[in-house]
Amino acid sequence: MTGWDELRRELDLWAARGEAPALWWRDDDAVEPSTALERAMALAEAAAVPLALAVIPAANRLTAADLSGPVTAVQHGYAHRNHAGPKAKKCELGAERRADHVIAELMTGRHVLEQSFGDSFRPVLVPPWNRLGAHLPAMLPELGYIGLSRFGARDRPAIGAMRIVNAHIDIIDWQGSRGFVGTETALARTVGQLRARRESAADPAEATGLLTHHRVHDAGCWDFLENLFAVTAASGLAKWRSATSLF
Ligand SMILES: [Zn+2]
Repeated sequence: MTGWDELRRELDLWAARGEAPALWWRDDDAVEPSTALERAMALAEAAAVPLALAVIPAANRLTAADLSGPVTAVQHGYAHRNHAGPKAKKCELGAERRADHVIAELMTGRHVLEQSFGDSFRPVLVPPWNRLGAHLPAMLPELGYIGLSRFGARDRPAIGAMRIVNAHIDIIDWQGSRGFVGTETALARTVGQLRARRESAADPAEATGLLTHHRVHDAGCWDFLENLFAVTAASGLAKWRSATSLF
């Protein structure tokens, strides 16, 4: 059985229970107009799959006029700058710096994105490298954030009124080729996540998050996305959700 057959089989198992699993698409590191960004937005439009575009505020040169199709801009940290020590894992919004400094950056960044995107922006925080100091999440709802998205199974669905929905399927091989991880690996991750939800090994209510980075996509990444959307969206066997509806 190929990975595509496994995916169809998993979706059929959901359908047999009268359900269509919720999925969502997060694409990180947006900063400027490009052919790759155009391609991602065109894919979203053609497949009717909403795209949550995580934009780096301090480097942003995009405006609402550059967005097309079902796209919502969200906040990818502030400058995507690493402040962790040389031996620590990369982190912009960690505990190395005073919380008031980190928060001031976040507020500046959010203002930039509100000005750039207007109604196409939602105050959802996607921390660079998916890392955030342990003391920060509890402060975010008061600061006006309605959503937080990192990577991997969420530890809780919400903090106060702020929803938490993570990404789970990264299609880039960051440790190796820095290109596509390969169809079978990407599908195994997708099927594994859906199965874990169906069997309640993972939170069944957390939408499965696809994570992409349009700026580094190779042909394999684009082909995979096209095929994944064809199998999941056109069939109606899965429901692709927008950032606006999730958060
Ligand atoms: Zn990033």
